[in-house]
Amino acid sequence: MTSIDSRLPQLRNLVTELPGPRSQALTARRKAAVAAGVGSSVPVYAADADGGVIVDVDGNSLIDLGSGIAVTSVGASDPTVAEAVAEQAARFTHTCFMVTPYEGYIRVAEELAALTPGDFDKRTVLFNSGAEAVENAVKVARLATGRSAVAAFDHAYHGRTNLTMALTAKAMPYKANFGPFAPEIYRLPMSYPFRDGLTGEQAAQRAISQLEVQIGADSLAALLIEPIQGEGGFIVPAPGFLATLAEWARAHGVVFIADEVQTGFARTGAWFACEHEGIVPDLVTMAKGIAGGMPLSAVTGRADLLDRVHAGGLGGTYGGNPVACAAALASLEVMRALDLPARARAIEAAVRPALRELADATGVIGDVRGRGAMLALEFVRPGGSTPDPVLTKAVAAESLSRGVVLLTCGTFGNVIRLLPPLVIGDELLAEGIEVLATVVRELTAV
Ligand code: PMP
Repeated sequence: MTSIDSRLPQLRNLVTELPGPRSQALTARRKAAVAAGVGSSVPVYAADADGGVIVDVDGNSLIDLGSGIAVTSVGASDPTVAEAVAEQAARFTHTCFMVTPYEGYIRVAEELAALTPGDFDKRTVLFNSGAEAVENAVKVARLATGRSAVAAFDHAYHGRTNLTMALTAKAMPYKANFGPFAPEIYRLPMSYPFRDGLTGEQAAQRAISQLEVQIGADSLAALLIEPIQGEGGFIVPAPGFLATLAEWARAHGVVFIADEVQTGFARTGAWFACEHEGIVPDLVTMAKGIAGGMPLSAVTGRADLLDRVHAGGLGGTYGGNPVACAAALASLEVMRALDLPARARAIEAAVRPALRELADATGVIGDVRGRGAMLALEFVRPGGSTPDPVLTKAVAAESLSRGVVLLTCGTFGNVIRLLPPLVIGDELLAEGIEVLATVVRELTAV
């Protein structure tokens, strides 16, 4: 990897208890001003971030193993991205692509057509958030097929808007008491090798027979799936699961939508996670890592599907904002220059053995899984598969108190997920993993 000059010292350095006094003061102000429904996993307020570190308002330098939920793959203040943003903002921040269009949007669309799987004529439409991209992919699939049903999977996460809440599997905290939900959404069993022990083919047949009985292929507009589930627990389906579903979808005129919002843009060691399974989706939804932290999302896919939609049917005031497009183009340049897919594979090679060793030594980690720089530990009660969310939470909290930002996830709240910025240095990454391992060993020592 080309070496990266970091603006901030790449080190873990605690100068106060966490959270420090300034963070605590902000928490007090926040309680009086910010809606309680917006959570924060870490009660520490950011002042600066670069490479693999976040510096808080008290001057603590923390190792970032979350990258703002898989967003800042190129770092949170990469100079190429920052310059592109400043340069575009100095010319125009907005005109609205639906009013006076601009080239940046087209360039992003051209890039996404070239990068996403599949060698066919593609079109792209840009939005602001992952949820918006998913909603619009469903709109396109429904219009193009003339069908209304959409199938999503157990453990799925697709967003917090009304349609995407319906598509998301977990009630608490995402759906509870927010209904009624959008109709015509059906849930299928996911392949979860650690918990179901099925091969990919068996798990796919289980899902297909359920949907043939309960929905009927002729009513189904789209199959929507995360190729590796994110919020649901970094669940990597058994080999062949995705391919069997994609083949079935093709045979029945069902639009196969891959939600690559979390897995996209080099995170898993390929540009898109579908590539690991040789899957070519009809539509791909993208966000997060696409624009180095600026809000941008996209639906890219078959021209014959996207171009069916009448003018004005897709869009939004801010969709494909010019500053966000400039950030995306700069991020892609950085990802290519640093070969971040290779870097994600190198991160896996460096980290996975340490995680495996930790699992073997402690007996509280039932599964070590993931791909590239999207790795996870599933915590269970010793010797079985009963989820242990209490230990999981304690590991994240104790790691934070030692200066490492770690995120949890999972339907059962028992998964620690590792999503470091792809530009994190080897030593800092190793130190972060060492802190995690020490915490797990200490918390489970008898
Ligand atoms: N799809 C997936 C797979 C996601 O991981 C997320 C966000 N965690 C979303 C959709 C929703 O994205 P956003 O939060 O940008 O709306």
